[in-house]
This record gives sequence, structure tokens and C-alpha cells, in this order.
Amino acid sequence: MKRSILQSASDFPIFNGNEPYIYLDNAATTQKPQLVLDSLIDYYSHCNANVYRAIHRWGEESTRRYEDARQTVASFIGAASRDEIIFTSGCTDSINLAATVFCRRFIKPGDEIILTEMEHHSNLVPWQIQGDIGGAVLKFIPVKEDGELDLEVLETLWTPRTKLLALTHMSNVLGTVNPAKKIIAMAHERGVKVLVDAAQSVPHMKVDVGELDCDFLAFSGHKMCGPTGTGVLYGKKELLEDLPPYRGGGEMIRSVYLDHSEWNSLPYKFEAGTPHIAGAIGLAAAIRYLESWGMEKIEEQEKVLTKRLIEGLDSLKEYTLFGRARERGGIAAFTRKGTHSHDLTQYLDSQGFALRAGHHCAHPLARKLNALSTTRASVYFYNTLEEIDSLLETLAIAGDFVL
Ligand code: PMP
Repeated sequence: MKRSILQSASDFPIFNGNEPYIYLDNAATTQKPQLVLDSLIDYYSHCNANVYRAIHRWGEESTRRYEDARQTVASFIGAASRDEIIFTSGCTDSINLAATVFCRRFIKPGDEIILTEMEHHSNLVPWQIQGDIGGAVLKFIPVKEDGELDLEVLETLWTPRTKLLALTHMSNVLGTVNPAKKIIAMAHERGVKVLVDAAQSVPHMKVDVGELDCDFLAFSGHKMCGPTGTGVLYGKKELLEDLPPYRGGGEMIRSVYLDHSEWNSLPYKFEAGTPHIAGAIGLAAAIRYLESWGMEKIEEQEKVLTKRLIEGLDSLKEYTLFGRARERGGIAAFTRKGTHSHDLTQYLDSQGFALRAGHHCAHPLARKLNALSTTRASVYFYNTLEEIDSLLETLAIAGDFVL
């Protein structure tokens, strides 16, 4: 019998305990279905061994599962080759990798990197650090009042010194889904490479790197039902081949001499040391789980939840919602008049709702919005309309308790 996505929460042990709790902090991390937990236990129980060069059956099995996981990721995001998939510890790690090796290879003093004002610190600070080392100038696409990027200003930012543009696919504060494909095409017309921070898009919609034509794409496993400490950097093969290694150590080398080393082929050149083997296997299990629902269905379900959430917040006059983009995902950051967002969010916890309060790792955006701290609700496909309604009902009477 075909199961309904409306009942998907029953696959998650954390939702089946005694404590009724409504989890709406999915932009920070998502919950894990039983089969992801099982894949970790199965790996550690049956073939735990280090990958590569093992002349024993557990090592061979461990390597097979790890490399199968790489292929699963490649197919999931439409990469042309598994060599384009580098396992990392998360989106932050992926962007630090890309920023470090890209700047080392391509950035000369006075070169320019374009970012946006809505970036998570993970797609800003690595460029500040590496740009500073290389002497790069950072420029920013402004965010308009409605939460969309000002592409007219972008037209004025390009110069012959522009080397790279890095942008978030979906804002973790405003929910804005940026027109990444269009921006990538604009960049490529000028010979500029593009990195897409897909931390908030890959878990929620079908993302195809071939269709986007991005040069790099970064995301985290834990935001898509996978284990913490897992992530991916996708890079176009010819670009990755042209880049220097990131960290030194075992597996990233072909030969080592006392005075120099030769690098391994892709993707190993970028994976020094023992990787998070179980994590990659767990991430592949998470991807298979998401695919069992279908990314289109997941996106559709989240659109229904988001619509109810946004309309509900709009109907509550004490609340201000940040972000009015036409294309948006299931994230809603808001404030309540006269109430600090920490107080409101703590109150919500006491009423059985997990939301997040603060600047959401996007300090410059928070300053621009003139809202240094907001309360953020973020949905995933396992949330239900009843949960959203329940949150809205609680928000409606919150003032009576908080103030
Ligand atoms: N980019 C965006 C847009 C995010 O929302 C996040 C996580 N909140 C990150 C990057 C960083 O992800 P991680 O902490 O998993 O490395």
C-alpha cells in the first residue's frame, strides 16, 4: 500500500516518544528516520574498517559502501561524475574548502568576489578570510525591501576583475529562493565562476547541478535527514582538477617524498585522512529515504505548509514577518511587537514548540532588516498543517503570557 507523506513523521523515532513536541527548527537541523539510524548501526556492526588499501573483507565492504554513497550523492544532484563529489563535514566545511583553494589558485590582489547581503556567515566569512589573504575586494548584491536580490545593482558590480560570485540558493532567514540559474548564466557570460550555497535548497527541492550549471555547490547532510558531521562539495571536474589540494595527509597523495608530494586523483585529492565513513553511508540512506517520497512531493508538501504559516502570521497583527519574495521556501522569521524574540521563543518551547531565535548566523542581514533577533519557524515535509495551526493559535495568545 502506498504511504502518504502526511504520515511520514511515524518514520522518525524522536517523534514517537511520550513527549508531544512540535519541531519547527528544520533550517538548523532535521530529524533522522529510523532507517538512517539503522544504516549507521549496520555499518558499525558488520563491516567497520578503514577505507581503501585494505586487503581484508571488512575494509573492502566499507570502501564499497562509502563509494556507493558517493555515487548516490552524485546521482541525487545530477553530477556528471562521482569524481565531482567531495565528502566534507558540512556545508561550512565545503565552502571553506572551495574558498581556500579557489582564492589560492585564482585570486590576485585587486580581484573581486561578489556575494549577497543575505549570506549565512558560512558563505561570507570564508571569503573574507581567504579574500584578505589573496587581496580580493568583496562586493555585495543588495537585498531589496521584499527580500529579493537587486539584480539591477548586480549589473553594475561586474568588472573585468570579477573572479567569482557566491550566493545562497535559499535564504535561511527570509526564505527567498534566489534565481540561481539566471545569475549563474549572467556570471558565465563574463567568465565568472559561481558557488551556490545549497544548504537550504538541496534538502527541500530537486536541485540539479547540470541544469543550474554552477561551478561549485555546497550542502550539509544533517539538514536533509542525514547524520551530523556530513556534507558535500560538488565541483565541476575540470575546475577541481585545476585547483590545489586543501588539507594535507593520508589518501590525498599519490607519492610522497621528503621534500615534496604528488597529488591523488579526484575526489581523493580533497579528502585527506580517514573520512566520516559511517556518516557518508548514513547520508546516502537519507537520500534514498527522501527519494522514496520524491523531491517534487516534498517541495509540494512544504509549499502547502508554508502558505498556511505565512497567511497565518499575516493575520496576526502583533507580528512582523521578514521576507516577501515571490519564490520562497518554508522559512518564516518574525518578531512580535514589544516582545523580545528570545522570550517569545522560550515561551513557545514551554508550550511544546521548537523554534529558533537570534540572528540566524546572518548578522549583516539582521542589521539591514533592523531586526537583530527574530523568531524563526522552518518546516520540513514531516510537519503537518495541524502543527502549523497549533503554532498560530499559540502565537495568537502569546502576549497574554509573555508580557
Ligand atoms: N548556509 C546556509 C544558508 C545555512 O542555512 C547553513 C546552516 N544554518 C549553513 C550554510 C551552514 O551549514 P552547517 O552549519 O551545516 O555547515
